[in-house]
Amino acid sequence: MSIFTKIISGEIPSYKVAENNSFIAFLDINPNAKGHTLVVPKKEENKIFDLSKVDYNKLMEFTYDVARAIEKAVPCQRVGMSVIGLEVPHVHIHLIPINTMVDMQFTNKIKLSNSQFISLAEKIASFYI
Ligand code: AMP
Repeated sequence: MSIFTKIISGEIPSYKVAENNSFIAFLDINPNAKGHTLVVPKKEENKIFDLSKVDYNKLMEFTYDVARAIEKAVPCQRVGMSVIGLEVPHVHIHLIPINTMVDMQFTNKIKLSNSQFISLAEKIASFYI
């Protein structure tokens, strides 16, 4: 069982920003930048291109709504999108509010306090339709 499945089942906590029957979005705990969010299908699947086209497109639709909420909630030049999955073998899309190319590199990390995570998640959630 992946760590994200444990988040989905509520076994471990997360800073949730959006959810529907099939997908969840929560803040990355080791963010590249403020508002770095992971978008995850609830059905555990390893690699994104193992999804059916239908499920892939549904994931993209949900991701679109989350990205637009992030753009409204977090000051940034734009929201970058990336798929890696080498650390957690459960499909997820990184949505990262960026100002420079460095923000898309996974070597530069920022530290946020619990209350900063909470207020970021609340703000993004408030813009999610
Ligand atoms: P990757 O699989 O390489 O795309 O990286 C997995 C990402 O998941 C990393 O950016 C981690 O910081 C993030 N991550 C791992 N565990 C958690 C967790 N419990 N809550 C939120 N994000 C997590």
